[in-house]
Parts: sequence; structure tokens; C-alpha cells
Amino acid sequence: RVKERGRGHYSFYQPQMNSGLLSRMKLEHAMRQALEHGRMAVFFQPQVHIGSNRIVGAEALLRWTDPDFGVVSPGVFIPMAEESGYIVTLGAWVLEQSIREAARWSEKGLPLKVSVNVSALEFRQPDFVERLRSLLAHHGLPSHLLELELTESILLQDAQEMAARVRSIADLGVGLVIDDFGTGYSSLGYLKKLPIAKIKIDQSFVRGLPHDAGDRAIVSAIISLGKALGTEVVAEGVETGEQRDCLRALHCHFFQGFLCSPGLPPDAFGARMSELGVLVEDDWRAALHGG
Ligand code: C2E
Ligand code: MG
Ligand code: MG
Ligand code: MG
Repeated sequence: RVKERGRGHYSFYQPQMNSGLLSRMKLEHAMRQALEHGRMAVFFQPQVHIGSNRIVGAEALLRWTDPDFGVVSPGVFIPMAEESGYIVTLGAWVLEQSIREAARWSEKGLPLKVSVNVSALEFRQPDFVERLRSLLAHHGLPSHLLELELTESILLQDAQEMAARVRSIADLGVGLVIDDFGTGYSSLGYLKKLPIAKIKIDQSFVRGLPHDAGDRAIVSAIISLGKALGTEVVAEGVETGEQRDCLRALHCHFFQGFLCSPGLPPDAFGARMSELGVLVEDDWRAALHGG
């Protein structure tokens, strides 16, 4: 029951604090301290060109290890950060770390793309585009080496305003990617109207490849849609060679997944890059047009 404490101030009045709520509050408190204590890190999962098995880029994935709670999954703390608004602070940090790392790769002559997840609340910040522009300039990263991953739902609320924002980001040269494609509202109109560079097939559709006929039909349809609209297609969550071979037969451009590597800290990612080799954009474009 809610007890009023004067104008605009409410507290939840309960004789005994529910233990689930209490541990959630502790977790949230720990999350807010994690950044300054160096307990958060950005890992990088290779994105692989299916035709050549070379790395073309990486997705930035946030990792948190807490001394009391251990490794906390992003599936737990990202929604918590989204609800409390703290995602704006976290997201700004991830974006800067990612841009800095990609600028390092680029300086070493490895022009790999870095792809950063952006939550709705971050994307809606009035200064988001301006901050993006100044981060790119500050770290000297060519804008075409950055991609932002959005979910379909972000584009559907305040569609006009979000469309304008997407266009101004695309005008900067930054690529826009639709994450978890097929799991949202399946409103496809925006794909035609907006400058979307890539769509990522959700891993729930990849899991059943190559045997599940339903998954195969959906994946094949998404790839055809991408081809027809001139949008690149990435498959997420590829764990087996069979899945990759199926995606290759369906002419999917790229994959990410444990088959190649999970998300890695920067040093280990560098080592994986040296093992597999890097394919720069001009080369895979040439390879795509070659067949
Ligand atoms: P996502 O963006 O769809 O990221 C893909 C998730 O699939 C990652 O989980 C990745 O580790 C996992 N994954 C990759 N390959 C495989 C595979 O072969 N098999 C399986 N089973 N899983 C695979 P993760 O890192 O736990 O992240 C979960 C979600 O949390 C992400 O989904 C994304 O929505 C969110 N997230 C992670 N980092 C950030 C961030 O920096 N900012 C924001 N806003 N969200 C983030
Ligand atoms: Mg993602
Ligand atoms: Mg995804
Ligand atoms: Mg996801």
C-alpha cells in the first residue's frame, strides 16, 4: 500500500520488505557502483563474412562481474538499467569504449566495424546525435566503422521523430542495424522508408536450422527481404557448422555466434582476429558482387 509523504513523494509502505525486492535493490545499488570500481567491461564478439570465414567487425557486449553477485547477465541488468534510467549512463560509457577500441583497430590498419547496442531511452536523449558526432571526432573514428543496433520497437513509438533521428545518424555515415529482427511487431514499412544498413536475424530462428522447416522458411524469407531492399543480413547465435552451411546456402552475408567465438575482451579478440584474418569492406563487397 502506498503511503503519502507529502506532495509528489511516495514510499512503499510494507511491514516487511519482500526479499525479492530487497535483493533487486541491492543488485541495482551494486550496478550503480560497478562502473567507477572498474567492474564493467566491454567485450567484442566477431562478426564473420560467411563466404570467406573472415572477420568483418564485432558487436560490443557489456559485461559485469560483481564481488558479491558474481557474473551478472546482461539479460538481467540491462532491463534493470532501462527501467531505472541508468542505461543512459551505461550506454554512453559502452559507446565511448567501443569507439575508442574501433579507432585503435583502424589505426593498426584493421578497418573493422564496431556494432553497439542502443536502448530506447538512450536513443531518445535529445543530445544523442550530437554526442555521437563529437565522440567520433574526438577519437578520430571514420563514421562508417560504427554501427548502432536498435530494436524494431524503438522505431515504432514516436515514429516521425525517430525516423528523423535515424536519418540524421545515417547522414553522419553511421550504419543503422535492426537487432532481433522478426521478434518485434513485424511492421515492415520502416524498412522501405528508413536508411537501414543491416538486419540481424534473431537467434531464435537460427536455432532450428537446418532441420526445422518453419525456421528455414523464416530465415530464407528474411534473407530474401534483405536482398530485395539492399539491406545486409546477419544471422545471430550460430553455434554449429550445419547452421552456418545452411545460412551460406541461403546466401546470408554474415554470422555471429559461438561457432566462431563468444564475446571476448579486447586482447583475446585481437588474437582471434589474427587467427581468422580480417576482410575489409571493399573486399567483401567485391566478393559479394562476384557471386
Ligand atoms: P543481443 O544484442 O541480441 O546480443 C546477442 C546475445 O546473444 C549476446 O548475449 C551474446 O553473447 C549472445 N550470443 C552470441 N552468440 C551466441 C550463440 O552462438 N549462442 C547463444 N546461445 N548466444 C549467443 P548477452 O551478451 O548476454 O546480451 C544479451 C542482450 O543484452 C543483448 O542481446 C542486448 O540486447 C543486451 N546488451 C548487451 N550489451 C548491451 C549494451 O552495451 N547496451 C545495451 N543497451 N544492451 C546490451
Ligand atoms: Mg545486439
Ligand atoms: Mg540480437
Ligand atoms: Mg537480443
